[in-house]
Amino acid sequence: MIALKPIPATAPAAGCADLPVLRERGQREVFCGLTGIIWLHRKIQDAFFLVVGSRTCAHLIQSAAGVMIFAEPRFATAIIDERDLAGLADANAELDRVVTRLLERRPDIRLLFLVGSCPSEVIKLDLSRAAARLSHSFSPRVRVLNYSGSGIETTFTQGEDACLASLVPELPMASAEAAPALLVVGALADVVEDQMQRLFDELAIGPVHFFPPRRSDRLPPVGPTTRFLLAQPFLADTARALEERGAARLAAPFPLGAEGTTAWLQAAATAWGTNPARFREVTAPRIERARRALERYRGELEGKRIFFFPDSQLEVPLARFLARELGMKLVEVGTPFLHRQHLAAELALLPAGTMLSEGQHLERQLDRCRAALPDLVVCGLGLANPLEAEGMTTKWSIELVFTPIQGYDQTGDLAELFARPLKRRARLVA
Ligand code: SF4
Repeated sequence: MIALKPIPATAPAAGCADLPVLRERGQREVFCGLTGIIWLHRKIQDAFFLVVGSRTCAHLIQSAAGVMIFAEPRFATAIIDERDLAGLADANAELDRVVTRLLERRPDIRLLFLVGSCPSEVIKLDLSRAAARLSHSFSPRVRVLNYSGSGIETTFTQGEDACLASLVPELPMASAEAAPALLVVGALADVVEDQMQRLFDELAIGPVHFFPPRRSDRLPPVGPTTRFLLAQPFLADTARALEERGAARLAAPFPLGAEGTTAWLQAAATAWGTNPARFREVTAPRIERARRALERYRGELEGKRIFFFPDSQLEVPLARFLARELGMKLVEVGTPFLHRQHLAAELALLPAGTMLSEGQHLERQLDRCRAALPDLVVCGLGLANPLEAEGMTTKWSIELVFTPIQGYDQTGDLAELFARPLKRRARLVA
């Protein structure tokens, strides 16, 4: 059995970890947490997401996930129309009816999420009680959980955090004597997960579990011998819930780019005591391949100035990758929330003097962006069109969440996502 090394206290973040951060509060321009359903329903293949919301919520997920018309959908909206408090009993009965009908018609569903939203009629409903009631009725065939995707409480990637945090109490308990296991936390495309699994196998790190799992009957165990690596930077609540179950986080940058991926793997290799020579042997050819893939984009991106509006919470790791591996200049790196602890290793790698902002005051930020005239702006869909109309070149941040971008083999594709809009603009002006 492998004895895990004690986890070092999070190293005092060197370098730019002490960068001053401009904190802003004001009007925000972001999607709500319902958006996470679009990638989560593909990941957990026997789960169903029932949004309890309004027609607006139904439109949002229908248009964002319109691609699903060829398959049996695994999300839907139960529309709760306006009703007063006296009508709440009816709303609960109606919800029970909708869920019963759904589960009768779809025996493939094993995990049902009731997803809360922001209309006041929904806020009045106690979805956690509804989930407990329904879980009791449909147990053991179906587990019913709830979380909020409300735009009042969440930005779009926080939907995944809320979903996974609601699933943590369901994870089986690993005993204190269980063999150490690695948990990779955060939805990754299956292809990326398979690549990571191969790497961990070659490094003799394991057993490795991925959370969320592809099927709800494969929930990974968690306990004091669990070490977890975050694959996404927006999972603060999930990480806290795992820590409360005894698991310990391995501090690392995120697996974006060759450098980030190597450091991320290194965190697990250190905990498992992997021989450094073996680590180099496994990673060196992949680093080399990733660097070669980046070469063709370096000429297009080096020296280009990039501005991030706060949206996905991927902004800091992306900025680190673009600055260090492609030579881009960071004008402003905005993020909805800056989790100092989870981002410590990332912040330490940012170039000196990087302008960081947290939260949003849309008008002021737009003024800064217009004054800076960056070559490329990363922003939400709502800002992209107006900024393009003003002559700026934009990249939709949501695309960076939908596309497999983690790991060595995706490094070139990740660079391509930033090079493409610049090429498109160059063709337009030519
Ligand atoms: S949850 Fe709120 S912000 Fe999201 S679609 Fe529904 S009404 Fe709009």
